[in-house]
Amino acid sequence: MPIATVNPATGETLKTFDALGPREIEDRLAAAHEAFQHHRVTTMDRRQELLRAAADLLEGEQDDVARTMTLEMGKPLAAARAEAAKCVKAMRWYARHTPALLADEHPAEDDVADSGAVRAVVRYRPLGPVLAVMPWNFPLWQVVRFAAPALMAGNVGLLKHASNVPQTALYLEDLFRRAGYRDGCFQTLLIGSAEVATLLRDPRVAAATLTGSEGAGRSVASIAGDVVKKTVLELGGSDPYLVLPSADIAKAAATAVTARTQNNGQSCIAAKRFIVHDDVYDDFTQRFVRAMDALTVGDPMADGTDIGPLATEQVRRDVEELVEDARRQGATVLVGGARPEPDGAGWYYQPTVLADVTDRMRIHREEAFGPVAVLYRVGSLDEALETAHDTPFGLGSNVWTRDPAEQERCARDLQAGGVFVNGMTASHPGLPFGGVKRSGYGRELGGHGIREFCNITTVWYG
Ligand code: NAP
Repeated sequence: MPIATVNPATGETLKTFDALGPREIEDRLAAAHEAFQHHRVTTMDRRQELLRAAADLLEGEQDDVARTMTLEMGKPLAAARAEAAKCVKAMRWYARHTPALLADEHPAEDDVADSGAVRAVVRYRPLGPVLAVMPWNFPLWQVVRFAAPALMAGNVGLLKHASNVPQTALYLEDLFRRAGYRDGCFQTLLIGSAEVATLLRDPRVAAATLTGSEGAGRSVASIAGDVVKKTVLELGGSDPYLVLPSADIAKAAATAVTARTQNNGQSCIAAKRFIVHDDVYDDFTQRFVRAMDALTVGDPMADGTDIGPLATEQVRRDVEELVEDARRQGATVLVGGARPEPDGAGWYYQPTVLADVTDRMRIHREEAFGPVAVLYRVGSLDEALETAHDTPFGLGSNVWTRDPAEQERCARDLQAGGVFVNGMTASHPGLPFGGVKRSGYGRELGGHGIREFCNITTVWYG
């Protein structure tokens, strides 16, 4: 993929970038190694000061960076502004909470004595330069949710961002530099995905985190496994959204629209499969379809746009193929199912709802990365859970019910890294985020996230 800004609303190539050559990559690896020797021993006060400075800068520049994101990947401008604001919040959250999250731990006295020690301490030390391979869909947030904890823990970051968001990627490097971080603490590497293997194998790179597709995750994890390096993988999702008879159907249907179409439908934690009990199926479906049909598709820079273009021509092609495959095999298109008319420039696709989907159809198992919802009618909670689990993914999940027993059953049984009851999946700096099955492993955010890239060290005093 060329490294370039291509406006998805027009298809126009606005700016292209040369990939770094071997010499430049070597210089950056050396800079990361050197910066880590300094950053790892900075005081907690200094790390807090630096991250707060980055948050202040970003807060003042939210509108500009939001426009860059919208230009590069097509999310509505208001959503881009909200993403930038969330990054500011996450930076401040980690600046505030890291001293407690990474405080020394003192094992139980009887265990210390039993080990023969006078005293023992568990200390969270940094690992080194961490390679972050990131996707375009939340081009600022995905990076900040890695970078804020990594830098607070004393690690340094090497960012290989998606090739279609180079200006957002370069902005991030510049932001951390202007905030006062030493050169080499956070670097953006404009490189293609083929270079990732070389970086991973370099002894100066300590670990890697990847957010993206299953294929990219598999490749990075297998190389990292070969050289025995820690990885965190945040991969795809096809989140189930269960609606049971006691639910507030009006609220469940309204939230379902946002859950499915946020970020133009290109979110790993978007609800994608709507599994609705027979008793409330018709009511839910009518409200959901009506609201999906009423969404405004158009210029992502314009006020009032709900859904902008898909990020690349390939993303739209993938969505079209999934819908066509389902339609060919007998799925019913309740709304959408095509490009908006007239089909002009830009990679737009109508909000779409499919029913009568069977397990022979690709969309039953694959992730639909666009504003396409699939409806299933079920007769019981057991059947709802069975349908929910008939997927390789296990990222988030949602259930709508007022029945405490059903809520508890879902909290116990849903195969996912998150169970959201009477609401939609969303991330928050203080709550761990991640998946099971082929949605990946490891966690980001909260205390669990920051400890992923720490050397949890036992210090034993005889
Ligand atoms: P992608 O094609 O996998 O790209 C993600 C990143 O990986 C990009 O930087 C890409 O670089 C790089 N990459 C691609 N193939 C690679 C390989 N073989 N080895 C090393 N790096 C490789 O994914 P995407 O299309 O940008 O993003 C959509 C996917 O990400 C969806 O499946 C979505 O669900 C998932 N996602 C997951 C989460 C989560 O938190 N779980 C969050 C957001 C998105 P190039 O751009 O240069 O190809």
